[in-house]
Amino acid sequence: MSHITCLLIDLDDTLYPQADFLDQAWTAVADHAARLALDAARLETALRTIAQAGSAQGRIINQALAKLGVDDSNAALLVAAFSNFRPCRLTPYVGVDAALERLKVHTPLALITDGNPAQQRAKLLATGLADYFDVVVCSDDGGRAFRKPHERPFGRGLESLKASAHNAVMVGDSPHKDILGANRLVVRTIRVRTGEYAAVDSNATLTVASFADVPDAIDRLRSNVELRRSA
Ligand SMILES: [Mg+2]
Repeated sequence: MSHITCLLIDLDDTLYPQADFLDQAWTAVADHAARLALDAARLETALRTIAQAGSAQGRIINQALAKLGVDDSNAALLVAAFSNFRPCRLTPYVGVDAALERLKVHTPLALITDGNPAQQRAKLLATGLADYFDVVVCSDDGGRAFRKPHERPFGRGLESLKASAHNAVMVGDSPHKDILGANRLVVRTIRVRTGEYAAVDSNATLTVASFADVPDAIDRLRSNVELRRSA
């Protein structure tokens, strides 16, 4: 039986629904817009509508201002309101907390996440899952150029846990970031079908397994491989 000595896990849309964070963040942006004498209700509606077409498309706030027919002179202030937003509470997907608790007994965990590092760390705290992780790797700490699927954040996670790629598994929702990036280091991968990319085809990647969610993935993993800490 092969053995696994560490797990690397994504945050957004893998451990909790990112839409919940965005819901809260758009409200914070709209609250700030009201203080700038903008039509906050219409702006919030525009933000949500545009974001539904894809949260990673960029310049969502500029697009929303354009939709309202106002200039973007306040765009930087609203972008700052988004970047400075820190959630108090984000509810993990059902069963994730218990699954990580079971897993943690057997193997160390590293979080591998893209985005504003302070905001990503705040999100993790808001999920209540932070204590399960031995290492938190925010790819943006090295610059946006190192976001997944760049192999550097995965490599940093492995180094921090003193683990080899051969004995690691990456679990994530994004076929183009989590799965492709980890495959570049020959880390075995599990895709979970949660969040924004749940229905996106991943045939072109080297995904070795695809499960409904993190609890399902961890249960299957525990039944098929030996999980243990490095010697
Ligand atoms: Mg994700």
